Amino acid sequence: MQHALILGAGIMGLSTAFALDRAGWRVTVVEQDEVPNPRGASVDDHRLIRHAYGTQRLYARMVDDAYRAWDQVFDAVGERPYVRTGVLALAGEDRSWIEASRADYRDAGREGWDLTPAEAAVRHPWLVPDGLSTAFAAPGGGVLLARRIVAALHRYLTARGVTFVRAAARDADPARARLALSDGTALEGDALVLAAGPWAPRLLPALSGRVVASRQIVVYLDPPASLRDAWAQAPMLLDLSVAGGFYAVPPVAGTALKIGDHRFSRSGDPDQPRDASAEERDAILALAAPRLRDFGAYRVLKAGACYYDVEDREEFVVEPLSDRCVVMSGFSGHGFKFGAVLGQGVAAALTNRALMPHLPGWAAGRENPVPGLTEEAAHA
Ligand SMILES: Cc1cc2nc3c(=O)[nH]c(=O)nc-3n(C[C@H](O)[C@H](O)[C@H](O)COP(=O)(O)OP(=O)(O)OC[C@H]3O[C@@H](n4cnc5c(N)ncnc54)[C@H](O)[C@@H]3O)c2cc1C
Repeated sequence: MQHALILGAGIMGLSTAFALDRAGWRVTVVEQDEVPNPRGASVDDHRLIRHAYGTQRLYARMVDDAYRAWDQVFDAVGERPYVRTGVLALAGEDRSWIEASRADYRDAGREGWDLTPAEAAVRHPWLVPDGLSTAFAAPGGGVLLARRIVAALHRYLTARGVTFVRAAARDADPARARLALSDGTALEGDALVLAAGPWAPRLLPALSGRVVASRQIVVYLDPPASLRDAWAQAPMLLDLSVAGGFYAVPPVAGTALKIGDHRFSRSGDPDQPRDASAEERDAILALAAPRLRDFGAYRVLKAGACYYDVEDREEFVVEPLSDRCVVMSGFSGHGFKFGAVLGQGVAAALTNRALMPHLPGWAAGRENPVPGLTEEAAHA
């Protein structure tokens, strides 16, 4: 039986472990922190999944494969930590992202409809339509309950006999599929997957300059009582009318309403403390204030920092570093939804090396998947 070594127990490492285990590999996962890791990019209450992807049409296509891959994971772990909410996207002067998403929905035959800002505000009483030029809504898409998914995968994989080693790796040798650990020992496998999240550029000098860690702030809110029912039925909100855009995740399955932005700070170190400063918090609140009715009546529950691993074009870096090693990085704040399907792809390419040349272009959203890449990997 072939042995795969995986660095990182975030959604990428765990999903790849899941797919490799199903393909008959023996798997060892090395993780420096507890699992779920609250410092990892994957662990928070929620992550959004949606087909609205602007001009990045192949990522919109990949969402269909992603849903299929999540179904496999959910069937295996015996729970379905997902809540469908639908999507509401808003544009101001620059309508290009919404127009591109609309066109893609049309071409793909997906359900979605246009709204005037005033119509959107009637449907969603928490919304202030000022300054908007258009809105687009779709019933598909929703919230992946990220912490629960990571915890369920960890439990399932442990029960399947996957070995979890709590250790920090200080060096990776792609040619030998080898990890040197900080206690002076080393581990070696037939294959090595490096899924180190925002720590990846530090571990892999080859990535530096190409992928940077980026401190991002999220704020949790309690809406005023008068709007709580409306928020309980709200879609995810993507407001592209502000520079860089802000998003809101509605309160689902007992979680709080969360807001954040998609403007990359491209600064910070994932080992830094995660408390947000008052300035950082207020910068996020300022994006939402003009858009959410009675914003002064919202209670701030907490604000914190997490880290993206940003690639300039927001294209994933899932590439072979040798014939036995794959790096998974550059997820640029939109990778979680694809975790399960990217894990399938990496497992398939390690199991059938003829697929390896097709992995990077597909993961970067530049090429369609070749047969075999997004299906369950053949047995090793
Ligand atoms: C605030 C926020 C909001 C987001 N929203 C969305 C969203 O709505 N939709 C979406 O699809 N995506 C979203 N993303 C992006 C998505 O969550 C990430 O792309 C994804 O979780 C990355 O997973 P990962 O496994 O690569 O990284 P991580 O979860 O960070 O896992 C990497 C793991 O590697 C471990 N590690 C690193 N270095 C070492 C070492 N040397 N030794 C041992 N262990 C090590 C770390 O401890 C960590 O646990 C968001 C991200 C953030 C931060």
